[in-house]
Amino acid sequence: MVYLYRMDRRDALRLLTVAPIATAMTLRELGRTVEDFAPTSPMPVLFLGHGSPMNAIENNPFTEGWRATGKDLPKPNAILCISAHWETRGTFVTAMEKPRTIHDFGGFPQSLFDVQYPAPGSPALVNSTQEAVTKAHIQEDHSWGLDHGAWSVIIHLFPKADVPVVQLSLDRSLTPQQHYDLARELAVLRTKGVLIIGSGNMVHNLGKLDWQRPDGGYDWAIEANERMKELITKGDHARMVDHTRLGKAFELSIPTPEHYLPLLYTLGLQQKADPIHLFNDRTVMGSIAMTSVKIG
Ligand code: ZN
Repeated sequence: MVYLYRMDRRDALRLLTVAPIATAMTLRELGRTVEDFAPTSPMPVLFLGHGSPMNAIENNPFTEGWRATGKDLPKPNAILCISAHWETRGTFVTAMEKPRTIHDFGGFPQSLFDVQYPAPGSPALVNSTQEAVTKAHIQEDHSWGLDHGAWSVIIHLFPKADVPVVQLSLDRSLTPQQHYDLARELAVLRTKGVLIIGSGNMVHNLGKLDWQRPDGGYDWAIEANERMKELITKGDHARMVDHTRLGKAFELSIPTPEHYLPLLYTLGLQQKADPIHLFNDRTVMGSIAMTSVKIG
């Protein structure tokens, strides 16, 4: 089993930069916003440590954790997902009515490539995300879809694929603080029944995967995971944002930022009264933390 999806993602991004952006929304779609959704009390916000794409089709303690979390949630009107696997120049939202299921990895069994997650898109959520964010110009994308950072976990929360899903990309040019600030502007969506999910891994170093250690972590991985949990529980978001100053364990745990940044989106959406629940708190393969967070 080989992780090739980083290479695949680069290829996909290359395609994205040359592909023409498809037609804009129809006139009918342009008027729709989440104002049409029934108002709700603030929806919880999730960060899900997604780990191996195989989790999409396995039954294990992590998928059980996601399923239990899904059962506890009020049914959302729509989902906005920030996945580690969609990095762009500028910030984009998937604006198609029927996002395709992207199998952005290689070296896995055919049964994983056979999985389709046919959740619809949501023009209303696209419009409202664009309206909510003033710190960036959110552009519409018509060529991405749902990558495995999104569907491999959402499939366990909502197996029927009956909740519309929109992905929000990670702009490579933003600093961690800018990502966090952008996330804060999305908070208005929570009272419109929008479930916001960051999908990545707090500790994620594929270069140091230890195949002899399926159920454990290096000392530095455990140290960073413990420190992150402590900072999250204390609400010390400033330190989490400034992760490059937190020492060697963090350096090894976050060699590149894309799997960590979705966590900053989740934290940025925390309101003062929100309780925090940590689950799936385990390190695997030496250098991956599956720890997940439910806020609210
Ligand atoms: Zn990943």
